[in-house]
Amino acid sequence: MKVPLLNLKAQYKGIEKEIDEAIKRVCESGQFILGDEVVKFEEELASYCKANYGIGVSSGTDALLISLMALKIKPDDEIITSAYSFFATAGVISRLGAKPVFVDIEDDTFNINPSFIEEKITEMTKAILPVHLFGQVADMEPIMELSKRYNLPVVEDAAQAIGACYKDGKVAGTIGDAGCLSFFPTKNLGGFGDGGMVLTRDKELAERIKILRVNGAKPKYYHKTIGGNFRLDAIQAAILRVKLRWLEHWTEERQKNSQNYERLFSEKGLDKFIHLPKAIYKNYHIYNQFIIRTKERDELRDFLKKNGIDTAIYYPLPLPLQECFKELGYKEGDFPEAERASKETLALPVYPEITLKMQEYVVEKIKEFFS
Ligand SMILES: *Cc1c(COP(=O)(O)O)cnc(C)c1O
Repeated sequence: MKVPLLNLKAQYKGIEKEIDEAIKRVCESGQFILGDEVVKFEEELASYCKANYGIGVSSGTDALLISLMALKIKPDDEIITSAYSFFATAGVISRLGAKPVFVDIEDDTFNINPSFIEEKITEMTKAILPVHLFGQVADMEPIMELSKRYNLPVVEDAAQAIGACYKDGKVAGTIGDAGCLSFFPTKNLGGFGDGGMVLTRDKELAERIKILRVNGAKPKYYHKTIGGNFRLDAIQAAILRVKLRWLEHWTEERQKNSQNYERLFSEKGLDKFIHLPKAIYKNYHIYNQFIIRTKERDELRDFLKKNGIDTAIYYPLPLPLQECFKELGYKEGDFPEAERASKETLALPVYPEITLKMQEYVVEKIKEFFS
């Protein structure tokens, strides 16, 4: 049996007609960048996420970058963020000449550990950038408490957590000042190319982001600020509007598949050998990834590969140990949990279209590996 990590072709087949019509509509409109399709998508997704404003942008990376630009982050400012995330989280900070200040993660959620944040706050700290990794919202209550006490804006990297909810029901990306989403094809709401969105409740911030998105122009050809080309394509917006109607259903399928794994792992007595993902505080976890951890991660991965099962490692090297951040001076041992996670975590296929038979096969093979 073959089990891919994700099956975007199967997903397309299920909604082919609606998608094709949406693409055709854009082709016939002649409006390819921003415009009506993008505005409608922004309204629909902001409403789904219970945000006041949504600003469609060119990628998740650009959503983070433009949010920091709109908050006027300057060279030498310090931004506190998680040691364990996709590179863009920290890359955008450095691109503005600012300094990422890393904080270790919690061992059960893989999210930033709020109890280590305060000790990293200095005169130079200008924002906190938590990440909602794998589909679960970080522990935002203590983060927002620090944000108030030190008057620091919070930018949420919600690229992997669209529609996820924190314990109090607040939606990922709407708790801090700005929330960043990505429509990279492997995300729960994936486009047919790059795309992203910034969510915010702040009218003024939304306005600044809209101006920065078009090279800082307002009105057209007059520039009070320097922005960039951060525009979203109409064709992506049209496709994403179709897919948004399916998002809740797909999320429920991912949650059901996660429960299947949990049941199958415990039936086979495998919970002794591997740690399963944990949703804390009854968070609404959207399982962008289903992450198990085991000390024999690399061997298990090879064994599954030989048996036709695709898995992935997110991420093999924590951010502070990346070569490009060498001059920040971090060393091995500074972030024990992030480092341990980078050696032990493995993503199993959990996509909406995976069948129970396939999941049973995955768990059977894992059982075989450990016996
Ligand atoms: C995917 C992702 C991004 C970047 O999104 P792109 O659309 O690929 O630019 C940023 N942060 C995290 C945590 C991500 O998973």
